[in-house]
Amino acid sequence: MSNRLDWIDDELERLRDADLDRHLHTHEGPQGPTLAIAGRMLVNFGSNDYLGLAGDARLAAAAAAAMNVEGFGSGSSPLIVGHASSHARLEAKLAEFERVEAALLTSTGYAANVGAVTALVGRGDIVFSDSLNHASLIDGCRLSRAEVLVYPHGNIDALAAGLSEAGEFRRRLIVTDGLFSMDGDVAPLADLAELAETHDAMLLVDEAHATGVFGAQGRGTCEAAGVEEAVDVRIGTLSKALGAIGGFVAGRESLVARLVNRARPYIFSTALPPAAAAAAVAALDIVREEPQRRTELLARAAELREALAGDGWDVGPSVSQIIPLVVGDAGETMRLAAQLRERGFLVPPIRPPSVPEGECRLRLSLSYAHSPQMIADLWAALKELR
Ligand SMILES: *Cc1c(COP(=O)(O)O)cnc(C)c1O
Repeated sequence: MSNRLDWIDDELERLRDADLDRHLHTHEGPQGPTLAIAGRMLVNFGSNDYLGLAGDARLAAAAAAAMNVEGFGSGSSPLIVGHASSHARLEAKLAEFERVEAALLTSTGYAANVGAVTALVGRGDIVFSDSLNHASLIDGCRLSRAEVLVYPHGNIDALAAGLSEAGEFRRRLIVTDGLFSMDGDVAPLADLAELAETHDAMLLVDEAHATGVFGAQGRGTCEAAGVEEAVDVRIGTLSKALGAIGGFVAGRESLVARLVNRARPYIFSTALPPAAAAAAVAALDIVREEPQRRTELLARAAELREALAGDGWDVGPSVSQIIPLVVGDAGETMRLAAQLRERGFLVPPIRPPSVPEGECRLRLSLSYAHSPQMIADLWAALKELR
């Protein structure tokens, strides 16, 4: 073998020296509030399984039933011969759930964002993007070849100025996370909707962390803020609170038709296994029938946030089931994560590039599946480490 890849070793060593290298931790058994890692059971505060559905037997049963009828693989991309009846059923169900004309199922939330942004804007257009948006929105902006103006996180005045000062563009698009994944805060949606109206800009909101959790019916932050009518494109994921896999775009019929014709991650990638879509259908039923999952989750999160803030932890601007404990230094963050692990808690340390330099943190993700005792024990452990 040549030594042409030796530079990678040097780069990896640099990451290690800065406490920024990352590793996989393989677990055994199903995803849930406890995970077996390296022969040890840990209480899991790292997953996005907010409603505790990833390991729910009803999702597995729905997938198994679909597999018996449709097999496992989907065979091709949706437009060729990969669109099975389970996919169609899920899309109809998503449109009904989201109360929109149509929904498009994509293989991931990542693909939904990249596909939607690149299908909506191109050269000669401009996108306004929140500085803390998810990587998939950022990548969608970059791939679109539109002009991109990144406005400071949640800063409505800066966005308004940007919209006013932007020169002549064919189309304008504002993109934002609804619930931000690193701080657990919500975008100023009512203000964004107003600005979009004033400046004739399309508005896209990514509900990845909020679908199933926020809003009276669980449709997300737009529902909670009462702005759904003003949002042109809603993105969601089936892989977080819904415990399945896949992403979706919800909105007008013509929007979905545009994506089917122009969204490259959708067009040039194999459709999900139909059984995955069947599992997501079962998850949507549970979201409708068991609202206590989301209401109790948010109530417990509010309680824990308050308790931690009372102990002196910096929980940032969180208003959700995502609770950051901002530490700052990467080494100190890694030490705290290791100490928690020794005490039986899995709490992921978050470092650059996921957050800016100097803003390293532990990120607690609460799930309905956590027992009140698990949460109390974590609180006690954190109190000890403070
Ligand atoms: C996780 C996430 C995505 C990607 O969703 P996947 O289904 O995991 O690909 C998109 N946007 C945000 C804000 C996310 O947190």
